Amino acid sequence: MAGLEDLYREIILDHYRSPRNRGELAVPPAHKTEGFNPLCGDEVAVYLDVDSVSGLVVDIKISGQGCSISQASTSMMSDAVKGKSVEEARLLIRAFKALMSIHESKLEGESDGTDLAADLEGVRLGDLEALQGVVKFPVRIKCATLAWNTLQQGLDEIGAELPN
Ligand code: ZN
Repeated sequence: MAGLEDLYREIILDHYRSPRNRGELAVPPAHKTEGFNPLCGDEVAVYLDVDSVSGLVVDIKISGQGCSISQASTSMMSDAVKGKSVEEARLLIRAFKALMSIHESKLEGESDGTDLAADLEGVRLGDLEALQGVVKFPVRIKCATLAWNTLQQGLDEIGAELPN
């Protein structure tokens, strides 16, 4: 398992050192949502450009500062949802949160995670799986999920603005 943990550490460090999609988008037309994790002091701003006709996340930029886990997770999130539909982005959010909470509930001995496993089925997490190591440190879970909660909030706000 040491080999896998080394690989995961490398992936996280790579995203931390060379964050993807870093920058800002003009608001409007883009939508800006900010997130803050008071437990660690992590800050993130997510700029989303969602095409109202195609429902695709045409562009995403991220800015902010914080610990390596929060920044790496933000970078991975931006990479994972860029070019995807809002629906796919929401599936990824759910799958990532399931990944975090499966381990959490296992640690607490409450569940074997089978109910949450359904949320993960058929969703390719790729590099994101590297973050599952952080659940061994429960205080870092908030660092890892910050970007995803901010993305979710942004999608909700955009959804509320769009005519149905
Ligand atoms: Zn943090």
